[in-house]
Amino acid sequence: MLPIVVIGAGPAGLLAAGRAAECGAAVRLLEKNHQPGRKLLITGSGRCNITSAVDRDTFIGQFFGQGRFLYPALQTMYREELLDLLAKSGVRCQVDHQCKYFPTTNQAGDVLAALLRYGQKQGMHLVTDSAVLSIEKKPDYFEIMTSQGTILAAAVILTTGGMTYPVTGSTGDGYRLAAHLGHAIIPPRPALAPLIIEQPYIRELAGLSLPDVEVRLVQPGQKTVTRRGDLLLTHKGVSGPVILRLSRELRGSASLHINLQPSMTRPELASAILEQFEHGGRQHIKNCLDGFLPHRLVIPLLAAAGVEADRMASQAGRRCAEQIALAISDWTLTVTGTQGIHIAMVTAGGIALREINPSTLESRLVPGLYFAGEILDLDGDTGGFNLQAACSTGYLAGQSAAAALLGNPGNQR
Ligand SMILES: Cc1cc2nc3c(=O)[nH]c(=O)nc-3n(C[C@H](O)[C@H](O)[C@H](O)COP(=O)(O)OP(=O)(O)OC[C@H]3O[C@@H](n4cnc5c(N)ncnc54)[C@H](O)[C@@H]3O)c2cc1C
Repeated sequence: MLPIVVIGAGPAGLLAAGRAAECGAAVRLLEKNHQPGRKLLITGSGRCNITSAVDRDTFIGQFFGQGRFLYPALQTMYREELLDLLAKSGVRCQVDHQCKYFPTTNQAGDVLAALLRYGQKQGMHLVTDSAVLSIEKKPDYFEIMTSQGTILAAAVILTTGGMTYPVTGSTGDGYRLAAHLGHAIIPPRPALAPLIIEQPYIRELAGLSLPDVEVRLVQPGQKTVTRRGDLLLTHKGVSGPVILRLSRELRGSASLHINLQPSMTRPELASAILEQFEHGGRQHIKNCLDGFLPHRLVIPLLAAAGVEADRMASQAGRRCAEQIALAISDWTLTVTGTQGIHIAMVTAGGIALREINPSTLESRLVPGLYFAGEILDLDGDTGGFNLQAACSTGYLAGQSAAAALLGNPGNQR
């Protein structure tokens, strides 16, 4: 019997190949790099935030409106099943105060080794340095052209990932391969990416972190999007969880409105600043604002507010306090773009979900063709959501392909 061929040995491909082999199928896993799982190795800054402690419904909510597609995959394999599979392959994980799971060793390499052990124990056959160039559907099988020659397959599982961090091998090949077989591709774009800011003074603020701020992204012809969380200033612009989450909404240039004191209304803030001035006596305005914003931001924001930084606090009245409150609650920056697909953590867009059956992950257009992982038009927030989604969809796709081939859908571990 011809094998199931899985294309791309990231987490989705490793789970798909391992599970299909576990269900009794002959499986070949093709990887174009010399080593599998290169992106997995850099996840979580090398620590690999593999999953999240949140419940299933909250998990679904982290996929920006597309998460419902994941229900069947999460029913087949969610956190406990994944952690169990890793533990049986020698890697234990622990959760931190932000609901993020990491291996106890804090080494992404240990997770990769465990996933490889899982697949190899089931008998999957990994072939590296094998780039898939094209796939042709024949009446009863698939013909796969690779850099090492042609392979025939009973079924194909495409797990080539997105197109961010292309240095890891995820260069968007899968979109081209799927489009050739008739699938619609939602245009890929960077998600979870830092943003570039036009104002030159931002460079002097690099390294400054602003916890729990509210950020509004305003762009012509688009709905304004507001998010709250931690922000980090960088040499080129802004990053941090709140920005990464917003970045997928960017369509061109935009303005960013940052509220540094989101827990107070503007009049409350102005009154608090005025009170500070009254106690400030002989101090300069610039030295009275540390309770409201980080000291490094004082001069740029006073300049934006049109307030003289060296004016005596005792001479500043309500109008001045209101001007400063406005600058603190609506610090406006110009966004010129994301820092690009090469640095984004995930790809938004991908294979259109309407053409895939979520219960099996089989193509609705090409019987025997399956998809899993980041190649799908699904992207999640930071926090372990993308890796769990890649593993869960990989596992379901492997199980479904094996069941269709061998006719034993009940085959369990
Ligand atoms: C810096 C960074 C940090 C991240 N940290 C986290 C984190 O901590 N937690 C989290 O949940 N998510 C994280 N992510 C996202 C996560 O890594 C991805 O969502 C996940 O790796 C997707 O898995 P995948 O198997 O679908 O694709 P990938 O991991 O991209 O794997 C695809 C594989 O397919 C191979 N391939 C591509 N084309 C071909 C071809 N033509 N022939 C053969 N092989 C091919 C590639 O070489 C690659 O090995 C991070 C991403 C980045 C970039």
